[in-house]
Amino acid sequence: MKFIFVFILAVSALVVLHAESNDPFHQPKLKILIITGGHDYDRKPFYEVFNAIPSITFDTLVHPHVNELIASPDIDAYDVLIFYDMGVSILPQHQQAYIDLLNKGKSMIFLHHSLVSYQSWPEFIRIVGGQYHTEPVVVNGDTLNANYEHDVTIPIKVEDKRHPVTKGIRDFEIFDEIYSDVEILPGVKPLLSTTHPKSMRYVAWINHYGNSDVIYIQLGHGQTGLSNPNFRKLLRQAIEWSAVKHKRAN
Ligand SMILES: [Zn+2]
Repeated sequence: MKFIFVFILAVSALVVLHAESNDPFHQPKLKILIITGGHDYDRKPFYEVFNAIPSITFDTLVHPHVNELIASPDIDAYDVLIFYDMGVSILPQHQQAYIDLLNKGKSMIFLHHSLVSYQSWPEFIRIVGGQYHTEPVVVNGDTLNANYEHDVTIPIKVEDKRHPVTKGIRDFEIFDEIYSDVEILPGVKPLLSTTHPKSMRYVAWINHYGNSDVIYIQLGHGQTGLSNPNFRKLLRQAIEWSAVKHKRAN
């Protein structure tokens, strides 16, 4: 009798295990950390983007507590760090924490105005692959005087339609904010571009840094951009690809 009971218990456990391994709804969810602060944003449409992604759970972290946590072992709990912040100053030990994480292969995705962060930290542009400089800079003989414009219809071309981050996305239009005269490093792998004459040419890219493939997406200022289905698909695929690619680091 006892044997039969143990046997039934074992079979039930196997059935549960089997169900969990085959059912996508029982896959462990990716743990995301969403970092904000330093710049206003429209909270409702922003968090709706993440609430609509079934494969993730997320925590939020706001400046000025961001870089202390990034430099602590607690950061290891997260599969992907998403930056929608605009950091101003950063201590040398916190700079090193970013570099150490990226050397280990941590997954980082930078969105929209995070391109303006850390103007006086020269390594930041090498991490993200580009920077919106708040003061004019001369790059290869050209003076870049970065600027922005809201409420623009932007034609978007998908540069690599087979890449897992852009897969299934056709060229599209989005009503969003543009940035102009942004410095983009020549080594980035473009994902999206635009021919809009006032916009920076590439509006999403991958930048290899350390052992990480950092993703930057310029789109996503407010309601219209954040609710665009192509933007949402791009961000979901960016999170899922980045998490899998960097799994060994987490
Ligand atoms: Zn904006």
